Amino acid sequence: MAEHPQEKRDLRIVIIGAGMAGILSAIKLREAGYIDFIIYEKADTFGGTWRANTYPGLACDVPAHLYTYSFEPNPAWSQVFAPGPEIRAYFENVARKYRVAEKVRFGEEIASCEFTDGRWQIRTKSGRSDQADVIIAATGVLHHPNRPDLRGLKTFRGACFHSAEWDHSVPLDGKRVGVIGTGSTAIQITSALVNRVAKFKLFQRTAQWVFKGENRPYDAAERAAFAQDPKKIEAVRAELDAFFGNFSSAVIDADSPQMREIERACLANLEETVVDPELREKLRPNYRAACKRLIFSPDFYEAIQHPNAELVVSGIDAVEPDGVRTKDGVLHELDVLVLATGFRADRFIRPAVVRGRGGVDLDTVWADHPVAYLSIAIPDFPNFFMLNGPNGPVGNFSLIRIAEQQLHYILQLMDKLRAGNCREISPLQSAATAFEKARSEAAKKSIWATGCKSWYLDKHGVPASWPWSSARFDEEMAAPKFEAYDAVN
Ligand code: NAP
Repeated sequence: MAEHPQEKRDLRIVIIGAGMAGILSAIKLREAGYIDFIIYEKADTFGGTWRANTYPGLACDVPAHLYTYSFEPNPAWSQVFAPGPEIRAYFENVARKYRVAEKVRFGEEIASCEFTDGRWQIRTKSGRSDQADVIIAATGVLHHPNRPDLRGLKTFRGACFHSAEWDHSVPLDGKRVGVIGTGSTAIQITSALVNRVAKFKLFQRTAQWVFKGENRPYDAAERAAFAQDPKKIEAVRAELDAFFGNFSSAVIDADSPQMREIERACLANLEETVVDPELREKLRPNYRAACKRLIFSPDFYEAIQHPNAELVVSGIDAVEPDGVRTKDGVLHELDVLVLATGFRADRFIRPAVVRGRGGVDLDTVWADHPVAYLSIAIPDFPNFFMLNGPNGPVGNFSLIRIAEQQLHYILQLMDKLRAGNCREISPLQSAATAFEKARSEAAKKSIWATGCKSWYLDKHGVPASWPWSSARFDEEMAAPKFEAYDAVN
């Protein structure tokens, strides 16, 4: 990259989203000496996915001490896997401590970002306009509910909602509740509801492998010890990091001994916990463990064996006013129907319109599938950076750690802009193309490509993820290779 030293510039930065990654961006930008930045957030509070999702049983299946900003350890986590409301409160507390709210415009959804005359022109849905030198898209991945196209869905007389839009005004106790889906969400809802409802029906299209993740509480003495000695938290984090490092080596190599060990543990969980052989066979997946996102649950198999629970494996024919009719002709009468049917994981910042240099449209660039150099930046979209963007690490990792590393990398790109070395920075098309080619080739060797359907796969069946080790990710994120970038004055 040619250096063109000019005067130091104050940069105006717009951050999109006030979830985990947006809060992080605000804190780290301030720390790096930036003052002219703002967050636009469509909702009226912090928290992103932890604000939107409020379903019963909501928890994070990444251990709490790992699902924490590295600079804000939390000795008060109540359990190994923290419940959703506790995580939301953590983000709110961190945002409060770092006075992030004064930098946020809540209730403003971005409608468009267009790069003209060397700056980003930003418009919100309410008609507000703004300008920025840099955009940090911290919009998250799983936020556009996937609504199933089921015949008759609108005719259902009871309450029906998506898991990410839980209607808390609907009574559940003593009711007949049906849940469609067997992803991480549906599994958590199952464990939370079987005891409360009169009848619980889980509509399974595909069985899931379940890894028994014990969720023990931290007692008062442990929490006090964490508070007194931060080294104790660091030790827990190091231990968990090692576990997930091992997990990451396993999933990228379907034939690795670590992968076989995970499969063995999942199989043992199924064989040892599910008593009824018929139910066990219904719950037995016909693909390899961790091909779909592995479910961590301390008690799903126990929950589905509860007398109130029924696993329905006959496919759904239609939804009727009184319930769900399955293909075997049975009508499953219900008061409440929950669509735990996942998210459209290929949306990212969209439906906002994003146009880069020369009017190039992000929707066009991503017509086949979303791509980005190192999952962060896109050729001809100068000074536009994403956190947890396309094809980044997924698969039971802490997205907080990933976002921190990505931001560290982005700040180094921004240093060039601030120092006046260049006014526009975006990856070279050649670098982005070579990266995507290598990435998609390597992804075909991962466990996610061993023959199942999941939200990890793009429309060609290629896993949309980081296919290499977490060590390689650490290495890439440590410092940008500036020769891969086009720097324009
Ligand atoms: P998901 O993993 O995409 O699961 C969606 C479920 O709905 C699948 O079982 C799918 O069946 C089923 N489904 C979709 N359309 C259907 C239809 N038309 N008819 C019948 N079944 C249908 O979604 P999710 O459970 O919400 O989880 C999404 C992701 O969110 C997770 O993978 C995870 O990354 C994250 N998450 C994390 C946590 C956590 O603890 N950290 C908790 C919840 C969610 P098929 O399998 O047959 O497609």
